[in-house]
Amino acid sequence: MSIVQVKNLKKHYGQMEVLKDISVEIAEKEVVCVIGPSGSGKSTFLRCLNRLEEITSGTILVNGHEMTDNNSDINKFRQEVGMVFQQFNLFPHKTVLQNVILAPIKLKGKSKSEAETLGMTLLEKVGLKEKANSYPSELSGGQQQRVAIARALAMEPKIMLFDEPTSALDPEMVGDVLNVMKELANEGMTMVIVTHEMGFARDVCDRVIFMDGGYIVEEGDPKDVFTNPKHERTRSFLSKVL
Ligand code: ADP
Ligand code: MG
Repeated sequence: MSIVQVKNLKKHYGQMEVLKDISVEIAEKEVVCVIGPSGSGKSTFLRCLNRLEEITSGTILVNGHEMTDNNSDINKFRQEVGMVFQQFNLFPHKTVLQNVILAPIKLKGKSKSEAETLGMTLLEKVGLKEKANSYPSELSGGQQQRVAIARALAMEPKIMLFDEPTSALDPEMVGDVLNVMKELANEGMTMVIVTHEMGFARDVCDRVIFMDGGYIVEEGDPKDVFTNPKHERTRSFLSKVL
């Protein structure tokens, strides 16, 4: 069963068409990596999925809800889609635990103690239980990104979107963040991950999508796409990054 259905999605910025007729379905529990050159539309595509961007035309259904319907309760549906960015954007004057429990209390009406119990479980899951009372500035980039993942998970989303979650990290921090994502994948979280980590894409993802120039040029099993790309543009991109 598809949890995400994108049909004929187009996105313009002014005269520039950035997404050109994207159609794709994502199954429940599927882990999809999106790769492609800078400027190919990967971030815009992710942002359209939780309607951080207004789309120009097409339809996007997430968990059966029409994300593009102006009459629907977009804030409620957006809660079903967690997002993790390259920049972690934690609230600097709040502790790690306060960062994690804020949205469940404000947006989901959880009690403080309920949110804290969930928050501590999630911090344990990302290996940062002992940092609950620290401030973001006291944490490394990799730790901050793991807090950002816990914060997104605290909303109990149906699907998690990651936009280059390790690109801003020092190399020695990357592994810990990827391991948390791998664990989520193993637990059956539906995930769409824009990444330059080709090893992760190959080993963890069920499907890889190669985007270029606003199109999905090629998609398939990572082993097939990486070892035997069908399109010249995919071959050329992979030859530069592998
Ligand atoms: P990627 O994530 O693959 O690097 P993006 O989705 O960020 O690509 O960008 C795709 C194209 O859209 C680029 O040409 C970029 O300059 C343009 N773009 C992205 N965001 C905006 C914006 N807010 N306004 C105008 N153009 C944008
Ligand atoms: Mg991007």
